[in-house]
Amino acid sequence: MVSNALAVGGNNPTAGAPKKACLKVACVGGGQLGRMMALEAPRLNIQMSFLDALGTASPAAQVVPHSRIVQGSLQDAAKINQLVQETVDIDVLTVEIEHINVQALAALEAQGVNVQPSSRVLGIIQDKFVQKSHFEAHGDIPLPPYAATYSVGQIQKAADTLGLPLMLKSRKGGYDGRGNAVLKTNEIAAIEEALTSLGVQDTSAEDLDVYAEGWVDFSMEIAVMVVRSSDGTTTASYPAVNAIQQDSVCRVVLAPARNVSLSTRHVCEALAARAIDSLGAGASGMFGVELFLTKDGKVLVNEIAPRPHNTGHYTQDACAVSQFENHLRGVSGLPLGSTDMVVEAAAMVNVLGAHSNSMEETIRSSDAALSMKKASVHWYGKESCRKGRKMGHINVTANSHSELDDDLAALLAIEGVPVS
Ligand code: ATP
Ligand code: MG
Ligand code: MG
Repeated sequence: MVSNALAVGGNNPTAGAPKKACLKVACVGGGQLGRMMALEAPRLNIQMSFLDALGTASPAAQVVPHSRIVQGSLQDAAKINQLVQETVDIDVLTVEIEHINVQALAALEAQGVNVQPSSRVLGIIQDKFVQKSHFEAHGDIPLPPYAATYSVGQIQKAADTLGLPLMLKSRKGGYDGRGNAVLKTNEIAAIEEALTSLGVQDTSAEDLDVYAEGWVDFSMEIAVMVVRSSDGTTTASYPAVNAIQQDSVCRVVLAPARNVSLSTRHVCEALAARAIDSLGAGASGMFGVELFLTKDGKVLVNEIAPRPHNTGHYTQDACAVSQFENHLRGVSGLPLGSTDMVVEAAAMVNVLGAHSNSMEETIRSSDAALSMKKASVHWYGKESCRKGRKMGHINVTANSHSELDDDLAALLAIEGVPVS
């Protein structure tokens, strides 16, 4: 139970409560995104607390007092309640990840806790099929073709209608491409193999938690970070960026997006803002909007994340106000900061755990970045290094894209990303 003293609407302007000098923001999840919010929070006089499965070993716990860390699963309602209770005088409960127990958040809202973004919005986004259905029903949001597939038979039908290859996606829990399987033939054995790779135990079930998407022949992937105020009166997009993926993992971001016209960039930024506005009341803070630019010139929404996003890390060093600060402003009812870039060009390179799993090898790109004139290193403080794990990132800024290229090429060579 949450006591009445803890359940005030805090700084939410719609709750009409008086503003406090120091705001208390609790966050479900204390990974790198939570850590980077926590690093911005004290400048805004915001005090953060976290729930994370790793407890005091989590990335966020390296930068806040351990008394403000609760250890536990993000699915555990009792632990989420404990986080709220231990955040004495809580103003806002937010998240750094969408794979959480939304029913627990809804129950807290019913007791008066100010959850931003709301459990309703998180519930729409955390199920990719519900998310797609929402965008189809609301507003003019172009999407890849998709179909509900509750059984192997329905997957075969979807392959007939949408064509091959077909993308099968888990409705919930996916990240970095885990949760996606590409189907190249319509044979039952191939479908069963794809379902097994997605963790489906009983492939003969008629209530499979997967859906199908038509294959998108895209020329590039674009991302737009959008921030929305908690009263819904202001929505602003950061500049559209190139989101360059390798094996379904974001590797490099170029800001603003290259090899695309200014008018297409603006189409992407407006579409992203429209998609977030369509979520309605409770859509607050940062949202990452992933887009496909198709070879025939269309812009389609791939998926949305209700939080700061890997493709928005460049904002830390390249924009007037970073995505982490704007998330805190948005969810806390504070005025939003500018989304403008303050440099002409920027790049972000993810530092992934080296193939050897060795920290010495992994740290080489950030070591090199320390000797570059306008590069900054953002390390996540993860306890151990594993191949492919996101360990940190490097932001490089410049007066032009071409000025960026030597440093970028050097970092990509160390990280083993092919330069095209
Ligand atoms: P994230 O780590 O961004 O949350 P995710 O695991 O949720 O990723 P998606 O964004 O759905 O997965 O897909 C991962 C990548 O797979 C995309 O960035 C894109 O490169 C590719 N992809 C996804 N859907 C399609 C599609 N319908 N057609 C072609 N490629 C696709
Ligand atoms: Mg995703
Ligand atoms: Mg994605």
